[in-house]
Amino acid sequence: MKGRFPLRGSVFGRLVAVMLGTAACLLIIVSVFFFLAVGPGLGGSIHRLTKDYARLLAAEGLDEASARKLAGRSQIDVRYEGPGGPWTTSRDLPSIDAAEATLRSRNSYEAVVVPRAGGGRYLFSWDYGRRISEAHGRLLWLLLALVVSIVFTAHFAIRRLLEPLRLLHEGVTRLGAGELDVVVRRTSQDELGELTDAFNGMAGRVRAMVRDRDQLLLDVSHELRSPLTRMKVALAMLPDGDKKLRMEVDVAEMEAMLKELLERERLRDGRGLRLEPHDLAALAREETSALSERAPGARFTSTDGPVPVVFDEAALRTVVRNLLENAAKYALPDSRATEVAIAVERNEAVLRVKDDGPGIPAADLASVFEPFFRVDRSRSRKTGGFGLGLSICRRVVEAHGGTISVAPNEGRGVTFTVRLPKDPGLSP
Ligand code: ADP
Repeated sequence: MKGRFPLRGSVFGRLVAVMLGTAACLLIIVSVFFFLAVGPGLGGSIHRLTKDYARLLAAEGLDEASARKLAGRSQIDVRYEGPGGPWTTSRDLPSIDAAEATLRSRNSYEAVVVPRAGGGRYLFSWDYGRRISEAHGRLLWLLLALVVSIVFTAHFAIRRLLEPLRLLHEGVTRLGAGELDVVVRRTSQDELGELTDAFNGMAGRVRAMVRDRDQLLLDVSHELRSPLTRMKVALAMLPDGDKKLRMEVDVAEMEAMLKELLERERLRDGRGLRLEPHDLAALAREETSALSERAPGARFTSTDGPVPVVFDEAALRTVVRNLLENAAKYALPDSRATEVAIAVERNEAVLRVKDDGPGIPAADLASVFEPFFRVDRSRSRKTGGFGLGLSICRRVVEAHGGTISVAPNEGRGVTFTVRLPKDPGLSP
C-alpha cells in the first residue's frame, strides 16, 4: 500500500500536498479573477475614457508639438492627415484609412479616428489593454514566486513541528523491537513534548517491570537451589522403584531449568563473557555439521572465507546450537534441511538460520525471545523445552552488542537472524 500510494503512509506528505493544492487553487482563482473580470473591465473603462479625451483634444485642434508631448506623457500616439500635415508621433502607426479598416473589422483595436474642425483627420492609438494584461501577468508570476516560497517555508516549519513525532515513531519502533532502554529526546514544550514525556515514562515502567521480573526469576532460582539439593539427598535415600525414578526425572528437569535461568542471568550486561577474536564462520560450520545427521538435516551454505569477530566462543556456540536444535525439534516430517549462512553486512557479521518447519504465528514473533514463552504449551511436553533457549540466545547476543530477530520465510518456516558488531567495542 505504502509503495503504491506514498502519500497515504505519511501525514507530513499529505500536509504538504494539501498546502500545494490550496496554493494552486488560490493561484487559479486569482488568475481567473484578473484575466476574466478585472482585465476586460478595466480595459473597457480606459478605452471609453481615452476615446472621449481624444475627441476633446481633436476639437481643440491638437498640433504636432502638443501631440508629441501627449505621446511622451500618456503613451497615446497621434497621426494627423489633412491640411498642414501629415505628421505622426510614431512610425508604427498605420495610415488613417488602414486604421479605419481595422477599426471596422476588430472591435478590440484601441484607436479612434476623429475629424478635425478645420479639415483633416486625427488617428489616436494606444495599447493599454496589452499593458494591463502584461502587468497582470507579472503580478501572477510574483504571486507564484511568493506562494512557492511560502509553501517551502511552511514545509520546513511543519517538518520541524513534526520532528517530535518522528523521534517518537523511532522510539516506539525500537521499544517494540525489545530495546528497553530507549529514551526519546524531548524537543518541544507543547503537547508533543508531553507525549514524549509520557512515552519515556511508559518505557521506564516497562524497563522496571522487566528488571523486576528478571530479579524475581533470579531470586526464585537461587532460593530453589537448596531445597532441590535437599530433595536430591532425600531421594537418594529412598528405596529404588518406579516412583523414585519418576521423581528423579522431575528433579533433574527442575535442576536443568534452574541451570538455564542462572546461566541467563550470568550473561546479563555482558558480565562473565570471555571476549576473544574467533572465526564466526568456522563456529557456525562446526555446529551445522554436528546437527547435519539429525532430521531434517542442516547445511552450511556460505562459501566465503573466515569472518573474524570478537565473541565468547562458548556462549556463541550455545546460540547457534539452540537455533539449530529448535529448527530440528520443531521440524515437520517433510521439512527440508535447515540452512545456515554467514555474511558480512556493513560493519556487522550476520548469521542466518533458515528452517522449513511450521513457522511461528505473526502475533508470537516478538514474544519468542521472552523467558518461558512457548507458542504451543502442549508441545513442550513432547519436545521437553522450558521456553528459555531463545531468551538465553537474546541475552548472549545483546551482551555482545548485537541483535537477534526472527522473520517468517516466503514459503514455510522462519529465519532467525543474529547480527554481531564486527568491532563490538566491548572490553574483554
Ligand atoms: P523451547 O525450549 O521451548 O524450544 P525456546 O526459547 O527455544 O524454548 O523457544 C520458544 C518457543 O518458540 C518454542 O517453544 C517454540 O514454540 C517457538 N520456536 C522456537 N524456534 C522455533 C522454530 N524454529 N520453529 C517454530 N517454532 C519455534
